[in-house]
Amino acid sequence: MNDLARDDVVLVTGGGGFIGGHLVADLLKSGFRAVRAVDCKPFPEWHQLLPQADNLQLDLREAGACRKAADGARYIFNLAADMGGMGFIEAHKADCMLSVLINTNMLLAARDCRVERYFFSSSACVYAAYKQTDPKVTPLKEEDAYPAMPEDGYGWEKLFSERMCRHFLEDHGLITRVARYHNVYGPKGTYFGGREKAPAAICRKVAEARLSGKDEIEIWGDGEQTRSFMYIDDCLYGTRAIMASGVSEPLNLGSDELVTVNQLVEIVEAIAGVRLKRRYKLDAPQGVRGRNSDNTLIRQRLDWVPSIPLSEGLEKTYRWIHDEMSRAQGTVRPAVHV
Ligand code: NAD
Repeated sequence: MNDLARDDVVLVTGGGGFIGGHLVADLLKSGFRAVRAVDCKPFPEWHQLLPQADNLQLDLREAGACRKAADGARYIFNLAADMGGMGFIEAHKADCMLSVLINTNMLLAARDCRVERYFFSSSACVYAAYKQTDPKVTPLKEEDAYPAMPEDGYGWEKLFSERMCRHFLEDHGLITRVARYHNVYGPKGTYFGGREKAPAAICRKVAEARLSGKDEIEIWGDGEQTRSFMYIDDCLYGTRAIMASGVSEPLNLGSDELVTVNQLVEIVEAIAGVRLKRRYKLDAPQGVRGRNSDNTLIRQRLDWVPSIPLSEGLEKTYRWIHDEMSRAQGTVRPAVHV
């Protein structure tokens, strides 16, 4: 991030979360001296709590909390959202939509505190459902978000908040940047409890089977749904590059290495050195049938695309989840699903 000054205050909202925690660590590592991390969770629940950062517990649905968080900041990475994997967003549509309070009040606070640059983490869930009905997908281009028919609840909120970013740029001169993340995974994230996403859930189930000697795994759907998954290091690089760029329209930030969920399971089994019987739960939440990222635009505009192979990222993720579970064996009670 060449053009962002390292002495000025950088705010990361959702700093207690998976991507936010990694972003705070990454900014500190690369010499940013005034990183402020804000999250509504109590500190013991943050995935990473870094003492070099200015850590604050605030509920950013409230306007006053957003003002406090943005005060004196030159840059804002707004990652806070009430979200989780498919199991969570399909059952909590209203909660997901209430993240609009965070995104509205953060934009107002950024404008009023004269923040210079503002990043918003949108999602591939903004893409129109009718373009994602076939597992043999045509990768999604940025223009495929319209005519709009996004994921109910979560996706509608993201699409609306993307557009607010655009209009705050046009009407108020706030420099806004938007990335549409496609399935981010890696160590130090949620892997049990109901908010976990497919890669972490599958790593957890394979580790559980290995640690307990079980020989079966439950898979949501028939396993033939397709997705791409981006390792956290690519997400961090892309997030910072988009923030520093001159690109004001939303950009896909995702891998284009397409796999079925069955293939995802096979990769994790190979890493763990096990082979499990599959039990398919056909009535479980699954989201769209197929989704992949078209990276033409990000390649053109940033001369870069995410490239860390899935097998490499999963190796690190599986090892971390396995080690966490071995350490906590007897105390961790993972949810029995995904
Ligand atoms: P996460 O749930 O780990 O982090 C989000 C954080 O926001 C949580 O720690 C949560 O406590 C915090 N938060 C929620 N409500 C808040 C509030 N009212 N005030 C302050 N903090 C609040 O999720 P993540 O995976 O790190 O995702 C970060 C961002 O990226 C989110 O905006 C998410 O929608 C977006 N995104 C993530 C993915 C992915 O695959 N992880 C994909 C698409 C988009």
